[in-house]
Amino acid sequence: MNRISLKEPESTKECIYYTFRGIGEEGEAKAWALKKECPKCNKGLMGKPKDEKTGKPKIRAKEYVCPECSYTVEKEEYEHGLTVNIIYTCPHCKNEGETQIPFIRKKVQKLNEESGKKKSVEVLRFQCGKCRKDVDITKKMK
Ligand SMILES: [Zn+2]
Ligand SMILES: [Zn+2]
Repeated sequence: MNRISLKEPESTKECIYYTFRGIGEEGEAKAWALKKECPKCNKGLMGKPKDEKTGKPKIRAKEYVCPECSYTVEKEEYEHGLTVNIIYTCPHCKNEGETQIPFIRKKVQKLNEESGKKKSVEVLRFQCGKCRKDVDITKKMK
């Protein structure tokens, strides 16, 4: 096994993205992307802008801001520069491994087993280090 020995985040507050979920019948994955330092002042960690009234981050915001200097980056541009760290159990071969991929979601067609219809979903796709098959982490459905 090729372990990169990823260090898990101490708090989800350090993360732009964090998920832990089952994949298929037997697989699972923990995936996270850490916040990145502001490229302008190198002090703040870029995050979603906060609501001035409640102090909570605005989840739906289309940009990220630096809390120190207010430097703003568009959402896609910021996310595409991030790395997703993944610790997984492969749903195909049950290999346990770790990997890192760019934080770029792919649109794929997935069959909904209940309705029998195909639906377009966004996934983070990586290849199992052992069997080389695709493993998809789907976006949480609401
Ligand atoms: Zn800054
Ligand atoms: Zn595998």
